[in-house]
Amino acid sequence: MLEKIISQGLKATGRRMTRTRKAVLSLLERTHEPLSASEIFAQLQEDQVAIDLVTVYRTVNVLKDLGLVAQLDLHHEGQSRYELKEGRKHHHHIRCQVCGKIVDLLLCPLKKLTKLIEERTKFVVGDHTLEFTGFCPQCQ
Ligand SMILES: [Zn+2]
Ligand SMILES: [Zn+2]
Ligand SMILES: [Zn+2]
Repeated sequence: MLEKIISQGLKATGRRMTRTRKAVLSLLERTHEPLSASEIFAQLQEDQVAIDLVTVYRTVNVLKDLGLVAQLDLHHEGQSRYELKEGRKHHHHIRCQVCGKIVDLLLCPLKKLTKLIEERTKFVVGDHTLEFTGFCPQCQ
């Protein structure tokens, strides 16, 4: 799947897929949680990829511009997280208040509400955020 993501990125922009970008994409692919830049940095250091934190920030932003990575700003967290877009449509998240574990909720229950809002306000709704917090099975 990673090769597909990379070739899509290349096709989209004609930009070079650097080793750093590949390393970040492959890390995000094998992670099942959205990662912050500092978590990406720590994990890549563990994997002995030569990189600094500034480069991580720059890389995730390039990958975001390429449409390969989605940025996630969870309430009260004060830092952005990043996850692969591939294979995930618009979706929501639940975060454990104790350990911070984040799980994808691969659904959106807001279609009806969106329609209602458009009818009431005459707005065309673009985006929305919805996030859940609670206690994961390990922390209950
Ligand atoms: Zn937990
Ligand atoms: Zn997600
Ligand atoms: Zn939604």
